[in-house]
Amino acid sequence: MKNIAILGSTGSIGENTLAVIRNHPDKFKIIALSTNSKIDILERQIKEFDPLFVCVRNRQAAERLKVRLRPSIKLFEGEKGLHSLVKQKRVELVLLAISGSAALSPLLKAIEAKKRIALANKEALVMAGPIIMAKAREKKVKILPIDSELSAIWQCLTGKDQSRLKNIYLTASGGPFRQASAKDLRNITVARVIKHPRWKMGRKISVDSATLMNKGLELLETMFLFGIPCNKIKILIHPEAIVHSMVEFVDGVVIAQLSATDMRIPIQYALSYPRRLENKLPGIDFYKLKELNFQKPDFRKFPCLELAYRAAKKLGTAPCVLNAANEVVVEEFLQNKLDFISIPKVIKKVLDKHRNNSNPNLSDIRKAYSWARAEAYRVIGNLKNRKR
Ligand code: MG
Repeated sequence: MKNIAILGSTGSIGENTLAVIRNHPDKFKIIALSTNSKIDILERQIKEFDPLFVCVRNRQAAERLKVRLRPSIKLFEGEKGLHSLVKQKRVELVLLAISGSAALSPLLKAIEAKKRIALANKEALVMAGPIIMAKAREKKVKILPIDSELSAIWQCLTGKDQSRLKNIYLTASGGPFRQASAKDLRNITVARVIKHPRWKMGRKISVDSATLMNKGLELLETMFLFGIPCNKIKILIHPEAIVHSMVEFVDGVVIAQLSATDMRIPIQYALSYPRRLENKLPGIDFYKLKELNFQKPDFRKFPCLELAYRAAKKLGTAPCVLNAANEVVVEEFLQNKLDFISIPKVIKKVLDKHRNNSNPNLSDIRKAYSWARAEAYRVIGNLKNRKR
């Protein structure tokens, strides 16, 4: 029996994790759940999974939940509450499904508390990859990826001599606008972006999938999590999303990981690792599959990819700045305050202006993050003034 804390249990990854745990009640026990503010969903999850601890990050929402909770459940509040929650003795594995940079500090606290980590969040690793990985090594903590591509790379590399690695093929479905013309891209609405053809996802990751910044963030995650330089990582468009990534060795042998497109598969593996558990999740029917397609990505149509490679070559504070600027443009786009094609333009301007710190500590990272957010708002303000 493994005791699990899910941070961000009310989002799409959180709900999928609970679906996995529901099917293996003899293997996993929910010890703790958390949400930012979706207390109605959290309350339903509490009734079903009976955790010992819960945390609500938004204080007003926490107050509202407090009166509805059984006294045997300990309620934590705010960011500090998340820090206390991950430290609880009974917690063995922390699954981080909080979206955005908000995951960084609870992730570091969970590593300090020597908990095994199952990581679905991308932004924390992109912001502070080298610091996180150094801390994980120091505390002898395993960080197991949940993102399907990173899970694939991890599974392909396990037990292999990584010094003999030639390339990683990081696959991408291509997002909802893979076939859109440059002209189409000018008229993309929020509604079209959040309706991904293949998956139901959170709003931020839906925008990132449409701009392909999602793949750019995964490029940076892959570098940090596995210690692989960016010149060995090739992004490959693969619309069927059956091959979740591949690794190529110096002798030309390529090892791929294939599975049906269902997040519960990589979630289950991160929970059960190093074992594999049976399940009733979808498999691949090769008799029906017929074909798998691969293409080179169009860097001109999706400039976010180029920007991510640029940050990947620079390292230091550049990935954090890329991520911070991206968070701002995504928020502004979702509020209809910025057009789709301006997203990469704003990020590029912020990166152009940034003075890179090549060996940042955590405080430098936080400073670069705040600077980049402010700079992104300034650039967006200038764009608007010019339009008027
Ligand atoms: Mg992914």
